[in-house]
Amino acid sequence: MRIENHEAIELDKVFADVEIETPYLEKILKKVLFIINGAMDIFSNGFGPIHEGRIFGNEGVVTETGDIYLDSKKLQKHDEDVAMAIIAHELAHYHLGHYKKTGRDSENQKEADDLAKQWGFNIDKMREIFRLRGIQNSWLGERMTQR
Ligand SMILES: [Zn+2]
Repeated sequence: MRIENHEAIELDKVFADVEIETPYLEKILKKVLFIINGAMDIFSNGFGPIHEGRIFGNEGVVTETGDIYLDSKKLQKHDEDVAMAIIAHELAHYHLGHYKKTGRDSENQKEADDLAKQWGFNIDKMREIFRLRGIQNSWLGERMTQR
């Protein structure tokens, strides 16, 4: 479906369930979806339930039930393009079905990065920041289970 701008996106038409509390997360999520929709139809593909909350360690995670969790307090500490890249990376994990399988984590990370990059996000900047923070490439590894 073609959409005019990010504000026109209704989150409950894209996610199976929506538990978003802050205007910050709602807005940045819509911006991310608008960009993804330029590459693939977000409405026919769709994503699992999305939740806003505090997560131990990571900015985001996809649990083995396919629930996507985002920590807006941690995301807000990054430049917007980096926060968007992190969100896109998580959505890529969901889209690729990584939560359903027990693949090699490092391969899943690369696959999610590649897809998010293909969608148009600044994954290189995101990875550089994590590298500077001393976080391994597998860090966004998010064990696929909520901790
Ligand atoms: Zn990841």
